[in-house]
Amino acid sequence: MNTREYAQQLDCKDPLKQYRAEFYLQPGTIYFDGNSLGLLSKRAEASLHNVLHAWKEHGIDGWLKGEHPWFYLSEKLGEMTALLIGAKPSEVVVSGSTTVNLHQIISSFYKPAGKRTKILADELNFPTDIYALKSQLMTHGLDPDEHLIQVKSQDGQTLREEDIIEAMNDEVAFLVLSGVLYRSGQIIDMERLTKEAHQHGILVAFDLCHSIGAIPHSLDDWNVDFAFWCTYKHLNGGPGAVAGIYVNEKHFGTHPGLAGWFGSHKEKQFDLEHDLTPAANAGMMQIGTPHVLSAAPLLGSLSIFEEVGIDQIREKSVKLTDYLIQLVDAELSEFDFQVRSPRDASLRGGHVFLEHKEAARICKALKAEGVIPDFRAPSGIRLAPVALYNTFEEVWEVVQILKRIMKEELYKKFDNKRDVVA
Ligand SMILES: *Cc1c(COP(=O)(O)O)cnc(C)c1O
Repeated sequence: MNTREYAQQLDCKDPLKQYRAEFYLQPGTIYFDGNSLGLLSKRAEASLHNVLHAWKEHGIDGWLKGEHPWFYLSEKLGEMTALLIGAKPSEVVVSGSTTVNLHQIISSFYKPAGKRTKILADELNFPTDIYALKSQLMTHGLDPDEHLIQVKSQDGQTLREEDIIEAMNDEVAFLVLSGVLYRSGQIIDMERLTKEAHQHGILVAFDLCHSIGAIPHSLDDWNVDFAFWCTYKHLNGGPGAVAGIYVNEKHFGTHPGLAGWFGSHKEKQFDLEHDLTPAANAGMMQIGTPHVLSAAPLLGSLSIFEEVGIDQIREKSVKLTDYLIQLVDAELSEFDFQVRSPRDASLRGGHVFLEHKEAARICKALKAEGVIPDFRAPSGIRLAPVALYNTFEEVWEVVQILKRIMKEELYKKFDNKRDVVA
């Protein structure tokens, strides 16, 4: 198991192996950061060029001409994403950013009334989600200290569904959680929590930033109300790529909280009336003119997901992270690394979180050795072997490099401090 040859055999048997050649990998580096920024694929590059070409060729007529008319691009990409998350095409639109989409969901559907005023979240979520929720409460004149309930983690890295369920009551209007936690990679049982929340009359929104493209979702079957995500992590849409939003069709027909003319019914938009007629589907959540050039790479990138299917991606992803954890246990046991991701693969998303008190400078040493991890303060190393472009041999190699860094104390050449972007 801990030989290069064994890893190479796993690569030989890998049904997804031909997809690696579709991505731009830098020679001499091992990229294990696809959960922060996925790599550029040739298809994404081609679809960006295609849209640029339409601009070159058609000028303003690109809104309706060219292979992918821009006026319908957000809906078209929504349709391509829907397959990936178990939604209907009309329930998904590609628009805005993660943070803006959370604002849009809350401002459209959070209606505090009587004693039902609270928003339930957790203490492990990514800060931007919490900032958005607090500011939404403040625009309603509600004190976040009182109205935002953050479920505590017992071990600092994972959440217990029982604790979340226990915090549900008839004072809670909304539940907002991540599908996969950004640090530990724990998968939250979205189906179970949705069911429990609905029994208490609570609406549910999930942040899929770390789960979309890594694990399967069945949002319709689970009866989830809303979801939102970025597309630059596992979906490989590029830095700042346009995000996505899901609205269960049972919520169609609402007036958006943050209204803008791109939320119009398509046929009505250019009537330019001062009374908005919102789209009768998730399209209503759009605000202004779409960021066409930041959406274009998704045409290519999502076509890979359509072709491969999320189940195959998940199957390989589990094998990669299982293998990584096995090797960490076998090879690094003397160096005080703690695996803080769930060891049960069914509870673990697409990355592995290792804790070490020297993490910041171990990450710097890894980079100096050609491995791209990411550091999460104060002591976390996230490693994401991505199914579409990483190999088992790379997993083996990363563990060997880590072992050398620890054995030869190469990390001591660096400060144990994070960089500005880490
Ligand atoms: C990456 C990530 C975000 C990013 O939000 P942006 O609006 O795209 O900057 C938000 N939430 C979570 C949980 C994330 O992992």
